[in-house]
Amino acid sequence: MSLKENYLSIKKSLPTDIKLVAVSKTKPASNIFELYELGHREFGENRVQELVNKYEELPKDIKWHMIGHLQINKVKYIAPFIHMIHSVDSYELLKEINKRALQVNRMIDCMLEIHIAKEESKFGMIEEQVISLLENEEYKKLNNIRIVGLMGIATNTEDFDIVKNEFEYLKILFDKIKNNFFINNEYFKEISMGMSNDYQIAIMQGSTIVRIGSLIFGERDYL
Ligand SMILES: *Cc1c(COP(=O)(O)O)cnc(C)c1O
Repeated sequence: MSLKENYLSIKKSLPTDIKLVAVSKTKPASNIFELYELGHREFGENRVQELVNKYEELPKDIKWHMIGHLQINKVKYIAPFIHMIHSVDSYELLKEINKRALQVNRMIDCMLEIHIAKEESKFGMIEEQVISLLENEEYKKLNNIRIVGLMGIATNTEDFDIVKNEFEYLKILFDKIKNNFFINNEYFKEISMGMSNDYQIAIMQGSTIVRIGSLIFGERDYL
């Protein structure tokens, strides 16, 4: 199938209230432009340099999502244009995003990345870290960031039950955090979970944003 056919068939299979972030990492700008011409605007990347290059090359109404681990010293390069950062995993990073957003007079939407997978190499915070971040008085003074939800990456396994349990846990944590910290906050409403191999499970467990790469663009040569 062609890129266009892949995209249209996934789009058709998604409930209309689920946002699709097309993960274009390692793929050329021409691939992104092909989807752009079909009306797609939300793209995800995991490396700062690649993100900046593609931002410069492509139409400016694209909404860029940073989905990969973000180093503190690189926030400044994406702050002027990034639409959403899914992978916030520390207070220090959040503080830097706020500082750089303030410098360019923007409000940046952020998601807190939660460690839900079994594998030790995955990034993200555990529940206690998230709660202490949200209880921190310093955090409440950050006026140029908005926490819009939680993000998680499930274990890469064929075992349906493991993946389902991890997504279910993220949804339960989301509800708990919503009730404790964001009860009257209209922005905290997103759960970013689900990739090519597990997005259907993620949707059943309450995902609002899926991040799909290889099913749309084909396999990547490197990660
Ligand atoms: C690469 C990546 C994806 C997309 O992965 P696919 O399996 O190709 O759909 C989603 N989320 C994150 C954080 C990624 O790094």
